[in-house]
Amino acid sequence: MLPTMRLLRSNVDYVALNQQLEPLSLTDFLRWSLVTFGERLVQVTSFGPTGIVILDHLARLTTNVQVTTIDTGYLFPETYALWEAIERRYHVTIRIVQPELTPLEQERLLGPSLWELEPDVCCHERKVKPMAAAVAGQHAWITGIRRDQSGMRAQTPLVAWDTRYGLFKLSPLASWSKDDVWNYIRAHDLPYNELHDRGFTSIGCTHCTRLPANAADERSGRWQGRMKTECGLHLPARPFTTCAG
Ligand code: SF4
Repeated sequence: MLPTMRLLRSNVDYVALNQQLEPLSLTDFLRWSLVTFGERLVQVTSFGPTGIVILDHLARLTTNVQVTTIDTGYLFPETYALWEAIERRYHVTIRIVQPELTPLEQERLLGPSLWELEPDVCCHERKVKPMAAAVAGQHAWITGIRRDQSGMRAQTPLVAWDTRYGLFKLSPLASWSKDDVWNYIRAHDLPYNELHDRGFTSIGCTHCTRLPANAADERSGRWQGRMKTECGLHLPARPFTTCAG
């Protein structure tokens, strides 16, 4: 029998739990997530293909899907258009969390073009810090990361404890491939970011998203020319300070 929230609160054997959950279909995993975490379960998405596949499954299981996005203030117009299309299709109102600083305030306090000079600081201000508000009061959050996206993500478990934010982190598509995701999108005629049709494979902020440098690496268009490969949401927590505090 799969564990309930009460059992999860006690000492969790994550290896055993993930072994139990790994054979489940996406629908069954999300059904377990909904039963286990109830109304304290939120999907946090930046409207990538995986997020849309997860939302499509959630919407078939419940009319009370909780979805939140972090609007960094630097999203593409095509991403805003997709966001609207998703709200229309699924009859959901996506909760918006924004950074403390507007782009203008950031420029004044932390300097111009922070994404070029200090991209880790920029991501911390515009993604990592706002994420705390996105998951406040929740018991678990759902993300769309997959193991085959990068070496950094290769060990992603279905369920983990998110030490940075203090709640469970669920990665229900961990074992899906890129082809699995796109096959599902096409088979069900789901909306997706039209930038994908122009060759973009991973889409984030306008300042840090380019066409992929390496066709085999779907994230190679992000922070191109830098060692940086993650915004920080999926990295272990570490002390981080900026001059904004
Ligand atoms: S992806 Fe780029 S612009 Fe967006 S928050 Fe990170 S550094 Fe800033």
